[in-house]
Amino acid sequence: MHSNRAVFLDRDGTLNADPGYISNPDQITDLLPGAIEGLKKFKQQGFLLVVVSNQSGVGRGLIKPETLPLVNAKINQILAPQGIQIDRFEMCTHKPDENCICRKPHPGLIHSAAKALSIDVSQSVMIGDRLTDLECGINAGCKTIILIRSGDGKKTEANLINEFKVDFVVDDLVEAAKHT
Ligand SMILES: [Zn+2]
Repeated sequence: MHSNRAVFLDRDGTLNADPGYISNPDQITDLLPGAIEGLKKFKQQGFLLVVVSNQSGVGRGLIKPETLPLVNAKINQILAPQGIQIDRFEMCTHKPDENCICRKPHPGLIHSAAKALSIDVSQSVMIGDRLTDLECGINAGCKTIILIRSGDGKKTEANLINEFKVDFVVDDLVEAAKHT
């Protein structure tokens, strides 16, 4: 039975600042404002925390494959004193022209996490700053789709078309936790 609920989170621009192709864990010194408090609230609500991230910098040769887990570990190092952790990191390391099934907006990363952690995607949430994040959540069948105004979020909001299925637009993860 897939009975767990998860919040699927984009990484760069949603959890941490996005300087582009983060290739060294030292580039992450803190999470974005409200992120830690928001993640705590998700945990209190009983959600698993899953990061789903396109990291084509690996396929492009800009990020060493062995460095990627160290960057992710840095996020959990920052969270450890708060008593919470990201439960799983799902990364697509392919280049766009490889036509893989995991690069967002494809739902492969969510499907992979759902299988590993017995997640009921239809009771889960997707949060991100780019259209591809939102489309990934929609393609996977998430219950709630949330656009965050950090990272590229304001630009994404400005370009949203009316019919597009975004449930909420929020300033930070604390506000997101009011809608999950
Ligand atoms: Zn991929």
